[in-house]
Amino acid sequence: MAIDVLERGDLPFPRSLPEFQRLFPNESACAAYLERARWRDGFVCPRCTVADEPYRFANRPTVLRCRHCQINSYLTAGTVMERTHTPLSVWFWAAYLVTSQTPGISAIQFQRQLGLSRYETAFQILHKLRVGMVRPDQDQIGGKPGEHVEVDETYVGGRTRGEGRGVHHKTIVAAAVEVRHRKRDSALNDRRNSRYAGRVRLAVVSDRGADALCGFVKSVVAPGAPIITDDWGGYAGLTKYGYHHASVAERGDPHVAEEFMPIIHLVFSNLKTWLRGIHHGVSPQHLQAYLDEFTFRFNRRFYPFNAFRSLLGIAGDATSLTYAEFYATKSRPTTSSSLGG
Ligand SMILES: [Zn+2]
Repeated sequence: MAIDVLERGDLPFPRSLPEFQRLFPNESACAAYLERARWRDGFVCPRCTVADEPYRFANRPTVLRCRHCQINSYLTAGTVMERTHTPLSVWFWAAYLVTSQTPGISAIQFQRQLGLSRYETAFQILHKLRVGMVRPDQDQIGGKPGEHVEVDETYVGGRTRGEGRGVHHKTIVAAAVEVRHRKRDSALNDRRNSRYAGRVRLAVVSDRGADALCGFVKSVVAPGAPIITDDWGGYAGLTKYGYHHASVAERGDPHVAEEFMPIIHLVFSNLKTWLRGIHHGVSPQHLQAYLDEFTFRFNRRFYPFNAFRSLLGIAGDATSLTYAEFYATKSRPTTSSSLGG
C-alpha cells in the first residue's frame, strides 16, 4: 500500500477519545507533536542547518527561534493550520473527529462538539479539512505481484421512480479496486473470504463507451496490471492498452458477480450507503468531490493515523517541505546575502 506518511512509534495516535485528551491536552502538547513530526531527531534550523535547541516562547508555542541565525521557524508552516487564529488543539480535535467518526458530520454538530462560540469557525475548519480529503490520490493502483484489479461502473444518485424505465438523472461512476489475498492460515478462509480490497479509485464518467471507460482505467491503473471486468464491450480494448484483461460473463447472475468480482460490488454497496447517509443527498456537480472523500477514507481505513496527519498537512518528514514553507514573509531576513544565495 502506498502510504502517504509512515507510521512512527514516536508519534502516537490516539485510539479513543480519552486517549486523545491525554495526548493533546493543550497548545504546547500539540506544538510538541508538530515539532516531533518535523524534526524526528531534534530541531535543525532550516536556514542555517545548525542542529541546536532553539529559543522557545511560552506564549507562542508554535515559534522556534534559531540561536545562531535568529530566524523563526513556524510549526504550522505548510500545514492546514498555517496562519490560523484557532487553537491547535481545536484543529487536532477536528481532524480526529473527521477521521474517526461517521462521515457527513455537519458544521453545527462540529461546532457543538468542539465547543466553539462561532459557527463560522467550525465551518471553516471543516471546509479546510475536507479540501485535504478531496485532493485526489494521484498514483496509479495495481501492478503488485499477486494482486489484480477489479473494474466496473455503476449508476449513482437521481430518481427513476415514476419516470419509467431508465436511468434518468443518474450519474455513471467508474471504479477500480485492488484485490489482495490474505494468507491462508485457517480452514475458514474460503476462496472469497480470503480476498479483500486494497486501494480504490473512483471517477464520474460521461458514458459507458470504450473511450470513457478505458480512459478511466488508463488514468488510474498501472500499465500491465491484471484486470477483471464484466463482459461489457466498453472494456474490450483493455488488452490493446497493455493490460492483462479477463472479462467475466456476468449476465445479471449475482452468483457470478459474487464469485469473480466480489470486491468491486462491495465498494459500490459501501459507496451508495455512504452517499445516502449524507445530508440532503449529493448533486451530480458535487459528486466527484464526494467520490474523492470516499476514496480518501476508504484507502486509509486501516490507517486512521495517516488520515489524521494527512488532513492536518503534517508531512512527518522535514525534507518534504520546501525552504520557503518554513518562513512567514515577515520573518525573512532583510538582506539577501544572509539567505546564502
Ligand atoms: Zn539558524
